[in-house]
Amino acid sequence: MTSGVTTGKIGIIGDGQLALMLAESLHHMGKEFLCLGSGTQSPVRTFFPLAVTTDQERFRSECSVFTLENEFHTTAQLEDLLGPKARFLFPDLKSYSHFADKISQRTLYENLGIPSPRWMAIRNDQDLLELKGWSFPYVIKASQGGYDGKGVRVVGSDAELARVLNDFRYFQGAHLLAEEKVEIVREVAQGFLRGPSGQISLLPLVETVQENGVCNLVHYPPEVGEKVFTQIERDLRALAQSGLVGIFNFEFFLTADQRVLINEGAPRTHNSQHLTLEASDYSQFDLLALYLTDPASAPAAVRALPSVMVNILGQSTGKTQELKLPSLPLKAYPKLYGKELSSPGRKMGHVTVVDADGTHDLKSIGKKILKEYQL
Ligand code: ADP
Repeated sequence: MTSGVTTGKIGIIGDGQLALMLAESLHHMGKEFLCLGSGTQSPVRTFFPLAVTTDQERFRSECSVFTLENEFHTTAQLEDLLGPKARFLFPDLKSYSHFADKISQRTLYENLGIPSPRWMAIRNDQDLLELKGWSFPYVIKASQGGYDGKGVRVVGSDAELARVLNDFRYFQGAHLLAEEKVEIVREVAQGFLRGPSGQISLLPLVETVQENGVCNLVHYPPEVGEKVFTQIERDLRALAQSGLVGIFNFEFFLTADQRVLINEGAPRTHNSQHLTLEASDYSQFDLLALYLTDPASAPAAVRALPSVMVNILGQSTGKTQELKLPSLPLKAYPKLYGKELSSPGRKMGHVTVVDADGTHDLKSIGKKILKEYQL
């Protein structure tokens, strides 16, 4: 990465909804971009069909700076894909490598003194033996490849542990993370961008609400005290000062026994910050676009107006239907991702409602949307 103004195309690895919303920011700024897609119908193909390629050589040669929309690649795959241009990846490879699996993430947090739920890595039978000393219930997570709670299970008995080990492919060599099951009162999230010169932009702290391990509602401001804001900002600054370069978003648990624990982070834009599209002067995608093209013009922090964002998940299988929203006391901003096929639980879009005056009960508005939308 250079810290100056970039002139070539921006390469985005992936063509899903996070790539789409970054592409839209770049498009508004008049910047050229190219997405490396999988070849099937996708959000970017729907809106920018000429800006997707499956040709890795073309992608590498036409782009001068790169970013990505998920952490499912190994660093070796990224090096292979980008060759000598891997040094122009944002996040840089070293920073990315912490987040490609949950065990290395937890190691990073531990080394920086950032509290997380009590944990241990399960890599071999010796580790499993040590786990026998833990009392039920606890949480087992797949170290790699999980998302939306799909790699997370609460374990309450030996029989359940045996099933989870099998499901998470422990016997085929997959590494797992065992964690204390914490009593969560609230979940919050915040992120930052950091350039190679050390420049930082902080995103707003938001509250996330999950159902069945999937976040379905996000609101700002979070209902937390000043101490929580302060601790999380301190944690983020410690992460930034450790030398991370890229955009990073982190999830935190606020527990019944008053702890603020980091759960996990992602080296990319994040669902929890979609409300910045309508509620902030710069969205998370605008900021990433600026860090990729002209970082000097990025603000040091982004504020948000009171707002709520609801994820629109598919309700049935088949062609996507028209989104129908209930009538609401404030304007709603729906954003559909252009996915042709819907299936139950698939992220199809989101809706944001902004309350500039702060006079409405945004959480109730969000819950009404969740209960009554049809797609
Ligand atoms: P994913 O990477 O699939 O999103 P997470 O680690 O974020 O997985 O876990 C998904 C959800 O499961 C969390 O949002 C939280 O509600 C619950 N969860 C995760 N870890 C714990 C834990 N240690 N104790 C209690 N609940 C947890």
